[in-house]
Amino acid sequence: MAKLTEEQKAQRAAARARREALAAEEKDRQDTERREAWRREGTRLSWDEYEAGVPCRGCGEPMCDGLGDWPGLMYLTEEEKRDHEAMEERFRQLHRQCMSGRWSVSGSRVRHCFQCCPPPPLGPALIEELSEIFRSSPSAEDRKKGQDFWELILTCDHVTTLTQHRDHNYVRPVVGCPECQVRRGVVHSKRLGPAYTDEGVEATYGESEQARLAAELASAKEKLRRQQQRAAATSSQIEELEKQLQLPVHHGGTR
Ligand SMILES: [Zn+2]
Ligand SMILES: [Zn+2]
Ligand SMILES: [Zn+2]
Repeated sequence: MAKLTEEQKAQRAAARARREALAAEEKDRQDTERREAWRREGTRLSWDEYEAGVPCRGCGEPMCDGLGDWPGLMYLTEEEKRDHEAMEERFRQLHRQCMSGRWSVSGSRVRHCFQCCPPPPLGPALIEELSEIFRSSPSAEDRKKGQDFWELILTCDHVTTLTQHRDHNYVRPVVGCPECQVRRGVVHSKRLGPAYTDEGVEATYGESEQARLAAELASAKEKLRRQQQRAAATSSQIEELEKQLQLPVHHGGTR
């Protein structure tokens, strides 16, 4: 069998990256829609409802059954194994169509579905803990020091940038496109370097390789579109001429 050329390999990799970005974009769209529906329909439990033992509005099961976490599967007694299997079966019955993962709250064995069941509400203690983390986080000036600048090519072929902490070695799979005003999958991402100079001034980067390629792609597409338009115009001209040429023949033939 013939081996792929480097160009073919690159084409396949590009096609795969685009497919994955489109899939991430679709999943993100569904997640957003689901969160919107939960908000509209008041599916989420309030903290008070959760505390009072109101069952999950997604599946009707208790949020917390108080049975404690499952021990590791290999440590289950025979009885626990049967309970576990029964619970798995119940989950499968309730979520036949949901190709989704499951979650449970700590100290509880009942499983909930990522697709049907909104996550449990944040309690006051957790909210306090999170606010503490935000309060103690570094100042905006300090944060600038650790930020990197990334360039992204999105599924719509728009090129955009993103600033994020240097610890992150990749960017999230879906970001908002400022041009389209829609969340788009990221097809390519590239770290350009520090987002700010030592003086805290936003760093600038010249046209990078990816931006150049994206611009080239856009201009090639535009050229193709114009050629197609011309071809369409030419073919309708040809059709028109053909019709005119056929007219006398039809007249002669039918009469
Ligand atoms: Zn549920
Ligand atoms: Zn489900
Ligand atoms: Zn766009």
